[in-house]
Amino acid sequence: TGTVVLDVRVAPIAEEYILLLADDQTEIVRAQSIRNDFVANVSHELKTPVGAIGLLAEAIEGAAEDEDAVRHFAARLHKESARLTALVQDIIELSRLQGADVVTEGRAVDLNRVISDAVDRNRFPAESKGIDIVVGGRVTRPVFGDADLLITALRNLVDNAVRYSPEGTRVGVGVRERDGMAQISVTDQGPGIPEDEQDRIFERFYRVDTARSRQTGGTGLGLSIVKHVMSQHGGEVSVWSQPGRGSTFTLSIPQLEDPDDVAEPGAEGT
Ligand code: ADP
Repeated sequence: TGTVVLDVRVAPIAEEYILLLADDQTEIVRAQSIRNDFVANVSHELKTPVGAIGLLAEAIEGAAEDEDAVRHFAARLHKESARLTALVQDIIELSRLQGADVVTEGRAVDLNRVISDAVDRNRFPAESKGIDIVVGGRVTRPVFGDADLLITALRNLVDNAVRYSPEGTRVGVGVRERDGMAQISVTDQGPGIPEDEQDRIFERFYRVDTARSRQTGGTGLGLSIVKHVMSQHGGEVSVWSQPGRGSTFTLSIPQLEDPDDVAEPGAEGT
């Protein structure tokens, strides 16, 4: 009879333990599957430029006598290597942003400067497409954070607006303050984004039009980076868009109440 008692007492404990274990396992399996997906996606995305670079190097060797052909292949080689560089940079940036608390040494950031820096870095590609970037508005209060990351986020939005817009159109960058938040909007007259894809474009490597994204030098990681920069700042990114009418992306970032107070918001008294 001793055995029976033991069975009765062990069974519930074991069941509970198994349930706990099962919960942990689901979490671990979920995390592993997200990581595996990312690795699979990264490998797939890297294969294209790496393969092209190999083939182009062979083509150059084979065309050694033909100067025009060499020049043509070399130009394409250059383009593929630029694409590979951009991809590797974005993968590294995104991996860093996915870690906890990247903005540990934040400070008061003047968003007016962030806007002029992000816009300046897109002036050349915009001019070469005859696109006018028009900036409007100013903020009076700073936000807490990392200026370089905020520039990266806004630069990505302006870069997308310029890349996806037809020649000779206008890109507007506006800023306003509302309820303790600074809102920076980037508006374009591009193709717009279908409503059922507006959530998905923030996922890694999700593109509405893959050929167009690649052709214009997109890595498919830009908006994912923007989303992570915003969550590191306690802010968010949103999109309004209508196919055929253009898109507006908005960054909302909490402002510092007292410009002299550069302590992390929510960490008062520490
Ligand atoms: P990509 O490098 O492909 O541009 P992103 O993460 O920046 O990657 O954007 C994801 C996708 O969202 C793009 O491939 C494109 O289809 C769509 N998209 C982003 N910004 C715009 C925009 N301003 N106008 C139209 N489509 C856009």
